[in-house]
Amino acid sequence: MKIIDGKGLAEKIKLELKSEVEQIRAENGNIPHLAAVLIGDSPASASYVRNKVRFCEGAGFESTLIKKDESITESELLEIIQDLNENDDINGFIVQLPLPDHIDEHKVTMAIDPKKDVDGFHPTNIGKMVQGLDSFLPATPYGIMTMLERYGIETSGKHCVVVGRSNIVGTPMSILLSRKSNPGNCTVTLTHSRTKDIGEETRRADILIAAIGIPNFVCAGMVKEGAVIIDVGINRVEDDTRKRGYRLVGDVDYDDVSKKASFMTPVPGGVGPMTVTALMMNTLKAAKLKTS
Ligand code: NAD
Repeated sequence: MKIIDGKGLAEKIKLELKSEVEQIRAENGNIPHLAAVLIGDSPASASYVRNKVRFCEGAGFESTLIKKDESITESELLEIIQDLNENDDINGFIVQLPLPDHIDEHKVTMAIDPKKDVDGFHPTNIGKMVQGLDSFLPATPYGIMTMLERYGIETSGKHCVVVGRSNIVGTPMSILLSRKSNPGNCTVTLTHSRTKDIGEETRRADILIAAIGIPNFVCAGMVKEGAVIIDVGINRVEDDTRKRGYRLVGDVDYDDVSKKASFMTPVPGGVGPMTVTALMMNTLKAAKLKTS
């Protein structure tokens, strides 16, 4: 079994982005600039945003963090988004999800200028993606597509089973892998909580993508010998042996499934770093579009 080292690949791409940034800077003095809006004090969200800011520094991007208390009103947040839309210094921005219950996530997503929507969640970008037009791809699926491409994993004609149909991972993943492209050209089955027999579907997968949010959901009995396993899940499970009292596990039982897989992503160090990388690739693209 070969480990798909998302962390290592992210470091490699970071250097590639850095050299592109240096070139752009030398040509016209511009530096790609990403802003992140973080609401509340969820440790998981804070950690995701920290990783994004850190990656920016490593790749030579500028970054701005806008941190607001959980008590912010929806209209105050929409005003911040409007300011970011109009700020010429910012090439792209994200609003870290989830948001507090009193804020409508859909309204927030809709308020972001699609030209600055580097998370790729706006319906304009999703619609373009569905039609195979140039757009900002949703960061996690884009990161996974990049991993498949860079590891030279054949996807054409393969059967891909996606578990989980969220708007940000499962559904866009199923669309990207079924597109006429490379990677792509898969026959895709999209499964979810109402699927009758998940195991029956997953056992037919040449490529299995798990994005559910249930620790160790996928076991070896659900996997075909030689399958490629992409584990998107990031779940905190209690662990008294760790200083912080928990450890991160995926949606796939790594020890069990790795005995059957041909390629597999670890958690942590697999899809997570590639999501951040994809966000930066989108930000560089936004910066280039602005100057072209
Ligand atoms: P979500 O909660 O929005 O969606 C979960 C999906 O799983 C739903 O479509 C649901 O139908 C399906 N599901 C739930 N129970 C199921 C069951 N028993 N059988 C089959 N399907 C079931 O989740 P999400 O935002 O897509 O995230 C999924 C996981 O991926 C979470 O652990 C999340 O933390 C992680 N995640 C990781 C990254 C990353 O960068 N690595 C990015 C986004 C999300």
